[in-house]
Formats: sequence, C-alpha cells, structure tokens
Amino acid sequence: MAQIAILEQNMINMIAAGEVIERPASVVKELVENSIDAGATKITVSVEDGGRKLIAVADNGYGMDREDLGLAFEPHTTSKIKTSKDLLGISTLGFRGEALASIASVAQIKAVSRTKDSNSGNCVEIDCGSKGETRPCSSDCGTKIEVRDIFYKLPARRKFLRTANTEMSHITEQFTRTALSNTEIDFTLEANARVIYNLKGVQSLRQRISSLFSSELGENLIETESDEKKTGVHIYSLLGKPEISRTNNKLQYIFLNGRFIRDKFISHAIKEAYRGCIEENRFPVIFLFIQMPYDEYDVNVHPTKIEVRFYNSNLIHSQILAVLREKLLSVDVGVSARIPAGEQKGNQINEAIAEFFKKHRPIHTQQQIGFQGAASGRKYQTQYRPSTEYERQLPQKRNFLQIHDSYIVTETEEGFCIIDQHALHERIMYENLCRRIKAGKLESQKLLLPESFQLTAGEAEAISNNAELIEKLGIELIDFGPRTMAIQAFAVMLAKASPVEFLRDLIGLLTDKSKTENGEKLLDKVLNMAACKASVKAGQRLSDTEIEQLLADKDTLERAGRCPHGRPTMIKFSKAELEKQFKRT
Ligand code: ADP
Ligand code: MG
Repeated sequence: MAQIAILEQNMINMIAAGEVIERPASVVKELVENSIDAGATKITVSVEDGGRKLIAVADNGYGMDREDLGLAFEPHTTSKIKTSKDLLGISTLGFRGEALASIASVAQIKAVSRTKDSNSGNCVEIDCGSKGETRPCSSDCGTKIEVRDIFYKLPARRKFLRTANTEMSHITEQFTRTALSNTEIDFTLEANARVIYNLKGVQSLRQRISSLFSSELGENLIETESDEKKTGVHIYSLLGKPEISRTNNKLQYIFLNGRFIRDKFISHAIKEAYRGCIEENRFPVIFLFIQMPYDEYDVNVHPTKIEVRFYNSNLIHSQILAVLREKLLSVDVGVSARIPAGEQKGNQINEAIAEFFKKHRPIHTQQQIGFQGAASGRKYQTQYRPSTEYERQLPQKRNFLQIHDSYIVTETEEGFCIIDQHALHERIMYENLCRRIKAGKLESQKLLLPESFQLTAGEAEAISNNAELIEKLGIELIDFGPRTMAIQAFAVMLAKASPVEFLRDLIGLLTDKSKTENGEKLLDKVLNMAACKASVKAGQRLSDTEIEQLLADKDTLERAGRCPHGRPTMIKFSKAELEKQFKRT
C-alpha cells in the first residue's frame, strides 16, 4: 500500500504557520504590514493578555470587497504579485500570500472590511481553517482583523507561548520597528484597553524615536545622509553618540526600503565605523535606513523576510562604512556632562565642586619632571625630549589645573572640561605613532646597555616572522646566547615604556592571534599597546609646560574625544549649565 499521502490543505497551512507565525508578535507583524501595504494612514493595534487572548489590527486603508475578503484567507492568495517576474522587484512588505491563511489555520478570526467606494462592508469568520460565509455588515472604510486564542487547538504550540509580559514585549518590539520605518502613519498600541503608544503621523524620525524610547535618546543622535548616484543606494542614518552605546545590539535598527532586517555585513560595517569611538565590547545605538533599487537584493530568502540577500554586499558594506565613519570623524563626539537637574543632587555636586577647588588651589609650580617621568632614569645615550612642535610660551593667564595628579581641568569657550591625562596622551601617542609608521619607521636610539630577555622557540619564531614590523617599531634585537635575545636599540617615541616589558607584550600579541589576524589589524593592536605603554600615567604629576603641550596637541587631533580603546578622554561641562545650577540665570 502506498505510504505517501497528499496533505490536506489545512495541514499545509498549519505547517506554513509554523514558519511564519511563531508567536502573537508575528501576527501583529503580518497584520500591520498588510495595513501598510493597503495604504493606511492610521493603524491601531489592540491586544489582550500579551496577544494570547486577542490581537486586533484596524486600519483605514483601501479595504477589500466581498470577493477579495472571501479569498484573502485562502492559501497562496495575494494581490501583490502576479508572475514570477514580479518577484524580482518587490516593493510591498508582503507578497507570499500565506500570512492570512496561516493565521486563520491556527486561531479564531473575525475580519471586517469595506472599500472606499462601497456603502457597506463585509465580514467573515474562520475557526482554525474552517471558514464561514462572507456576509454584509456595517463597517468603517478600511479593514479590521481580530485574532483570538492563538494556537488553541494546538496545545503543543500553545505551550511554547511565554508569559503575557514576555509576549507583550515581543509585540512592543515589533510595533516599534514598524512605527520607526513609517513615521508618516498614525500608530496606536493598546494593551488590555490601556493605551501604550499613541503616535501621531508625520513625525520626524527623531521625534518618533523620542516618543518610542526617550527624549534623551532622541537628543543624542547625529544625522547623516548620503546619495550614491552610481549605485542608486541612498543612506539615511541617526547615529547614537558613543556615550549612549549599549551592551547589546537591541538598539540597532536597520531598514531596507522600509523593511526591518538583520544583516551581518551591515552589522559589521557599523562596528567598523565606530572602531575607536566606543569600547570593543559595546554596541552603538543606530537607526539606519537604506533605500536601493528593489532588484538589487532578494527578500525571498526567509519566511519572515528578516534576512535578505544583497547581490553586491561588498558595495553596501563599503558605502555604509564610509558614510558612517566620515560622519563620526567629522563631529565632536566627546562626552558632555550634565549636572543632574534634581535640586538636591545639583546642590551636592555644586558643593563638591566648590570644595574641590578650595582643596586644589592651582599650584604655580615650575618644577619640570618632563614627559620622561618614571623613565627618566633610563640609560639612554641622549636624553629624549618630546617634540617641541607645540611648545609655546606660557599664556598670561593659566586656565588649567591638574587634579589628583591624573586629571586636567581646563577652561574652554563653552565652559570647562575635565581631561583624563593618560587617555588623552594615549590618543595623541596613537595618532603620532600611526603617522610615523605610515611614513616609514620609528626613529630609534641605542641603549647604553643592551637589555636581555629569554624566550621560547615559538616566541623566537614569531619574532623572526615579524622582523619587518619590529624594525618599523624602531627596535633592534640581537641573539644573546641560547634562547636569549637582547634589545640593542629602542624607539625614541616609546621612551616611557620599559623595553623588556614592551617586548614581552609585543611577543604576546604576535604569538596570540598572528595566524588569524591580518597584518593591518595586528599593527593596529601593536600601536594601541605601544600608545598605552608610552603615555603619561594616571597619578603622575605634570609640569605646566607638559600640560600646555598636551592641550596644544589635543587641539591638533581629529578625534581627541576618545582614547584608542574607545574610553572618553574628556568630559565637557557647559557654562550655561553651571550658571543654571548656581542660579545665575
Ligand atoms: P500578502 O500580504 O503576502 O499578499 P496575506 O496573506 O498577508 O498575503 O494577504 C493576502 C491578501 O489579502 C493581500 O495580498 C491583500 O490583497 C489582502 N489584504 C490583507 N490584509 C489587508 C488589509 N488590511 N487591507 C486590504 N487588503 C488586505
Ligand atoms: Mg501580508
């Protein structure tokens, strides 16, 4: 007897529902997308019990007539594509014609719809795939679909639903994505008859973000836009300033022609763009909108269409990276500090500041410790002094102060700013090192006494494999007996670092990931390490001249606001904020 049977249609729908309809939030997604495709300008989503009991979506779109309403819940019925050619350029959110049939196979449905040119509407009810008659009924223009008791005949799937709160959070996330990419539409979200969001249409994206998240988030976004005529790719983005970065990527919203997507190439481009602006393990906040020709990518890859396939993903990657990076480098993304508004807290801070200045009166020391600092005892043939490029005469009025031997408070045009001396010097060092290495090699000088160190065979191999890099760093090594090498000469710029310690760390980097990392990344890591080791440390008293020079160097930097590790190098305070707090305004 034949073992193979053709499945019943409702069975097929239920299987399809397994892919498209995972949970109540998927129903919200499909229904709201249909409303958008129907040209709605006002969409209301109401749910009960996290969507487990009820999900209702009402719109004022162009509606369906009696015949269409009867067909809409049948499998593979769609008004959005007709031939396979249409698959090449899909401009609507839906096209697979399976969402309504899938939903109707796993829940109780009531759908009411009326077209603009009709005086009355029609309605239809479906209970887990068994459809009633389509009958006339009274209705506003548009469509309202109610979905009750999802999976009630499928205990195995119902069991997988989470608590109402969890399901609600998925619905809110889904609602947020749609509301972000359709700022011209009025959106309302109600849960258990309580309004959660009531978003007025024709909002700017920034306003919508403020309404959906917080005004603080809305205020900390930098806008950028680019139009590539050749490729037809248009990018619009609101970039989160580094200080609002997160520990996960939940606040990264990427939209392709209005469709929320997740894409690893794009995520990578975002990460690269922020390199050096935020710490490695943090995620920037970003709202990224890509518009491009519909036939340049395929959305028909995944049933929920959250993944797409770009025909030229390298191009997309490089354009996004370039646009974001250029913007991030061109603006001052420094941290600006705000004194908390609360009366009491504000006063506490004011008192603390006053107290602080009392204790730390500017000391007019002319003592010159020099940037040599801890390394001043080093046995160099000639004493190294840092570049004199920016050494200038002391200004008439000293407008800085070193505190805790670690921070520099300095007056700025807008107010004042507190600098982390190590972080800033590290940034300066890093930029200088990059520049010098690019131009050739670091200038080196012979040590009076070579410093020796022991190493394993593997480490010796790493050294010989990276001989060129070591030479570029201005380091000269010689064999010094069995498994021993000695440092003969060391880079002038790295004078603050102990040569042997530096070599240890360098070998660590070379043996760690040298096999998997490309040369450029490795060099970047080495330069980061070198910058850190060769910078003034926290807890080191600096002379006025040194501070002067640090401040002058800061002004010549493109990205002084972040150390190479992405930590802020300075925090700015505005004068206006101070005046407000001291009740001067
Ligand atoms: P798809 O969206 O992929 O076409 P669906 O199963 O989601 O498939 O919807 C089937 C069809 O029902 C749509 O193509 C559309 O013609 C119609 N439809 C669904 N929802 C609405 C709505 N809110 N307003 C008007 N027409 C709708
Ligand atoms: Mg659809």
